[in-house]
Amino acid sequence: MLLSYYDDTIFAVASGRGQRALTVLRISGPRSGATLDALAGRRPAARVAVLRDLRDATGERLDQALVLWFPMPGSYTGEDSVELHLHGGQAVLSAVSERLVELGLRPAEAGEFTRRAFLNGRMDLLEAEGVADLVAAETAAQRRQALRQLDGELGRLYRGWSARLVQLLAQQEALIDFPDEDLPPEVEGAGHIELARLFAEIETHLDDGQRGERVRDGLVFAIAGPPNAGKSTLINAVAQRDVAIVSPHAGTTRDILEARVDLAGVAVTLVDMAGLRDTTDAVEAEGVKRARASIASADFVIFLHAADQSAPCTGRLDRADLELTTKTDLVEGWRGPGLGISALTGAGMADLLQFLGAQAQTLIDGSGAPALTRPRHRAALMEAVQRLAAARDAAWPELRAEDLRLALRAIGRITGIVGVEDILDSIFFQFCIGK
Ligand code: GDP
Repeated sequence: MLLSYYDDTIFAVASGRGQRALTVLRISGPRSGATLDALAGRRPAARVAVLRDLRDATGERLDQALVLWFPMPGSYTGEDSVELHLHGGQAVLSAVSERLVELGLRPAEAGEFTRRAFLNGRMDLLEAEGVADLVAAETAAQRRQALRQLDGELGRLYRGWSARLVQLLAQQEALIDFPDEDLPPEVEGAGHIELARLFAEIETHLDDGQRGERVRDGLVFAIAGPPNAGKSTLINAVAQRDVAIVSPHAGTTRDILEARVDLAGVAVTLVDMAGLRDTTDAVEAEGVKRARASIASADFVIFLHAADQSAPCTGRLDRADLELTTKTDLVEGWRGPGLGISALTGAGMADLLQFLGAQAQTLIDGSGAPALTRPRHRAALMEAVQRLAAARDAAWPELRAEDLRLALRAIGRITGIVGVEDILDSIFFQFCIGK
């Protein structure tokens, strides 16, 4: 049976802000059941929605609400919990909140429900991060990735590696504790192979082109080209709002302007670059310098040329993944080559969006293997790989064991499971008995 980690009982609005038909209020902690009794008269059966009058201390009705009772441990937080589906009005929420405070509850802090779920063993850190990502997800790809993490896919991968490291460690501990009894050579050989295999698997996982982080943070598509080529106009057309200042005077876009868009379910930040040209204006020169830096780090670079040659290109560009002709309406019967658009008539825009969507999906597409989603995980895994390399090269079992232990701890930090010693004890215990 799980024991609640906290003494106090918290509440918070779990639904969105603003005008709404319903407000979902969530309560968690040891006083949840008593609170429900005081508010709604009787406690309903577990996990069954029932309609109840909610009343204040004098018996006045505050709302008629759908209430749900989740006894521990079968709740989101692992504690006794209650959900109140109130009517959406602000006055209802204020009155019920006041009553809850009167009953000894306090408003929850940001993330506190999920923090409790983690501390009560309902989820690991990766799943908790998956919840946060799912709540923040703007696009289909982000939603899918967050759901996979929430399902524990990454956690299973990392726990699998931890379990294998524990086995390797147990072997080294045996060598240390019983130095006179040589392990059979085939066991030692298998240990070396397993170490190399683990090392390779983690390296492959790290070397994924930052796919997961890109889904989460969004890809960057740079829009480059000479001044007046139509960069700002294009970004506004794709974002369907005025992000960039569009002006017929060359060199208007001096700073980097950004718009976040959804391309075929993938979050993409379009970056509108300063016009690339040689210039004597100090401010514009700075813009050009920044544009070149952004182009170098972008996931995809679109280079624009005006069909009517009104925007000649004088600057050099090191990279262009797509050459796009703009202002095709100015050249009668424009036929190509390549993709062309007119922001004025909308010609070619659908093809362009389809093409860019396909590119975005290709850039985040992996083999279907779970992707690393945060720099925190990357840093910990890089440390684990370094420790494994050190373990591989260590001359003594004592040193090798220490490196393996540090690798294990680094991976444990990702899931939040650091009780390495416990696992070790159980494994080592079996190992000795079997010997
Ligand atoms: P930037 O300097 O590359 O950002 O170019 P802008 O987007 O500011 O566009 C420069 C000028 O070209 C503006 O006057 C736009 O109205 C015009 N322009 C942009 N796209 C088109 C187009 O598709 N057709 C026509 N006829 N004019 C365009």
